[in-house]
Amino acid sequence: MLLADVARTLETVSQTRARSAKTAALADLLRRTDPADASALVGMLIGRVRQGRIGVGWRTVVDLRSQIAPSKEPGLSVREVDDALEQIAHTPSGAGSAGVRRDLIGSLFAHADSAESDLLARILTGEVRTGALEGIVIDALAAATDTPATVVRRAVMLSGDLGLTAELALREPAALADVGLRVGVPVQPMLASTSSSVEDAISTAGESSVEHKLDGARIQVHRDGDDVLVVTRSLADVTARVPEIVERVRALPIRSAIFDGETLLLDDDGAPRPFQDTMSRFGRHGVPDSVLRPWFFDVLHLDGTDLIDEPLRVRRGALADVAAQHLIASTVTDDPAAAQRVLDEALASGQEGVMVKSLDAPYAAGRRGKAWLKVKPVHTYDLVVLGAEWGSGRRTGWLSNLHLGARDPEGVAGEPGGFVMVGKTFKGLTDELLRWQTETFPAYETRRTTHAVFLRPEIVVEIAIDGVQRSSRYPGGVALRFARVKGYRPDKSPAEADTINSLQAQLR
Ligand code: AMP
Repeated sequence: MLLADVARTLETVSQTRARSAKTAALADLLRRTDPADASALVGMLIGRVRQGRIGVGWRTVVDLRSQIAPSKEPGLSVREVDDALEQIAHTPSGAGSAGVRRDLIGSLFAHADSAESDLLARILTGEVRTGALEGIVIDALAAATDTPATVVRRAVMLSGDLGLTAELALREPAALADVGLRVGVPVQPMLASTSSSVEDAISTAGESSVEHKLDGARIQVHRDGDDVLVVTRSLADVTARVPEIVERVRALPIRSAIFDGETLLLDDDGAPRPFQDTMSRFGRHGVPDSVLRPWFFDVLHLDGTDLIDEPLRVRRGALADVAAQHLIASTVTDDPAAAQRVLDEALASGQEGVMVKSLDAPYAAGRRGKAWLKVKPVHTYDLVVLGAEWGSGRRTGWLSNLHLGARDPEGVAGEPGGFVMVGKTFKGLTDELLRWQTETFPAYETRRTTHAVFLRPEIVVEIAIDGVQRSSRYPGGVALRFARVKGYRPDKSPAEADTINSLQAQLR
């Protein structure tokens, strides 16, 4: 398979809006792919090469490309690129390694025609912007191999690997249906949708397990005999960093299991510590100075039996039997008032909200459906626009990413009566708002750089956030989490904006 072929297909895919046409183009490409190349090809299509991070900088790629004229004929195959990536990924770092990498990349560019060179640069810099292409590749694999898409999707979720699933699909489509859970092979986690209230959630999910939504980090724990594997939500292996979780799971009276849960740090008095404390402990090597506790809310496999297709009521029962001490507390109810009490209690104890989970639903790996619903109060704040950055991509030429400030009446983080930056966002900005910002902001301009225009603190915008976190970057020591624009508030003056003190008070 020539890279030129891949480039042509991606061009077709990006030029059509119709999902069916995108799927057809990719299916056609996959039908012509040697199964041995499938995994490498899929990595290039979805912008995540199978070698992972290859440590080649954007500058290097741009420099090399500018020095090497593209060849007249296409000449680069997917396999050659994959081989070179393999060598690059395995080049030991140290003196001379940058030169070796440059030579490998240079020789790829020397064999590429201009379309191939273009795609190669995007592959090397991780810039294949294909957005939702993963789902379309699944549909295309189904079409190319005459297999129901549900079967392909399930194989991807259970194996956690689209590339290997593609290889299997092209070699032996009938074997896809046999892909099952394997202890030790991470599974894509089940995800939750959002519900605006517990009443709505209960009316959608019916009789439910209502659980505290802990503000920690997702963990999936596999145990096979004495072997324990702990992975994160993105399926990264963190086993070596969480010895205390490994110990606790090894101590359970079982032979094999796959648990799904959340881990977080607690204060001495049992209150949850802020989300980023848990995350930083997750990322740190060496001797832990604090203890992470696992809480499990699901079990996918137990002692040789897959439970993934069993309803939650069965899975919870199995979990309670073997790991009661690690079970997230649950109230089983179909009464919205009872669910509301759990929510009030969760918030009072410093948790984020609740999860409402249908007791009849199987474990839908990798899916965000209606079987799990999260309910958490949305916090909104009125903040002041301090600046805006010029957009890129689709937003080129528009003032986009907003710099947001909170009022600082007492000068806790700067001049009394001034404004303190607490975050940035471009989420929630419609085309209409982008246009309005670009037209309006220059009238408030105090200075500009090539990237941004800075404004007098006069425009108030209402922002929804999921919470706040401690920050060493911003002067108030606090940063917004998941900020999005709800709307401009011309009815409010900057003097009515929320204060840095009120945001700091959200830090627990
Ligand atoms: P979100 O990240 O806001 O989409 O919420 C889903 C996340 O909440 C999951 O990925 C888990 O990390 C976390 N979580 C906390 N408590 C629970 C629970 N009881 N059940 C499921 N997920 C939970």
